[in-house]
Amino acid sequence: MDCGEGMQRQFLSMGLGLNRKTTIAITHLHGDHVIGILGLLQTMALSQRTLPVTIIGPSKLKDWLEFTFETIGIGLTFDLNFIYAKEGIVLNEKEYSIKCIRTVHSTESYGYLFAEKERPGRFYPEKALELGVPEGRKWSILQHGRPVFVRGKKILPSMVMGKKRAGRKIGYSGDTRPAERLVKFYTCSDVLIFDSTFSFKDRRRAEERMHSTSYEAALLAKRARVGMLILTHFSARYRSVLPLLKEARSIFPNTVAAKDGMVLEIPQKE
Ligand SMILES: [Zn+2]
Repeated sequence: MDCGEGMQRQFLSMGLGLNRKTTIAITHLHGDHVIGILGLLQTMALSQRTLPVTIIGPSKLKDWLEFTFETIGIGLTFDLNFIYAKEGIVLNEKEYSIKCIRTVHSTESYGYLFAEKERPGRFYPEKALELGVPEGRKWSILQHGRPVFVRGKKILPSMVMGKKRAGRKIGYSGDTRPAERLVKFYTCSDVLIFDSTFSFKDRRRAEERMHSTSYEAALLAKRARVGMLILTHFSARYRSVLPLLKEARSIFPNTVAAKDGMVLEIPQKE
């Protein structure tokens, strides 16, 4: 989500493969969110990528990329599959979906919600054996959600499996003022990554520049009952982000400040 300057270097240093299934979601066309896509796509081409790349973003992103590639003569070795950002579900895959919402910023800008689909419930072998289903192919059929027959008796997946397990949800705001509709959109996300450009004392500036303060990010996270808040996009005016983090934690304790290369594990739900 978003490609700041030097994105390809970060991408490589994190050990992310250049020829893997990739979807890039861009929130808006301000340099610090989009400039890095050029280097990333060019690096992918240099490594002879063949898989298409899906790009989600404002419609002008496509024009800008096509114009730039043509002007500076970057030839890609793979196709770009563009999806115009608009409110609602923009990408629906077997295992997850990506949803958009318009945010409140100085240009056309979108927030994203990455939502994993429900997973099947836990499989209980002892229940299967009790019902006379022998271990093997029939177990696998049940685990895939289809019934099996044992001596003429129909065994349903629900008889040997627990309830479906909810998928994980990750929200990403890009640049925005806080807004009521964003509270609703990000409700019950496991992780919310939110604009935290300014501190409380610079709240006027946050209003003018159409960003959020760490305090506002925390209020929104609390009202949306998210699991964890990650503050990001700090203004370069702050030597340390600690005061911003403290402000946010006074409202929403489970807050962390993002930093380059940070890795977080989000456990699956049982
Ligand atoms: Zn911006």
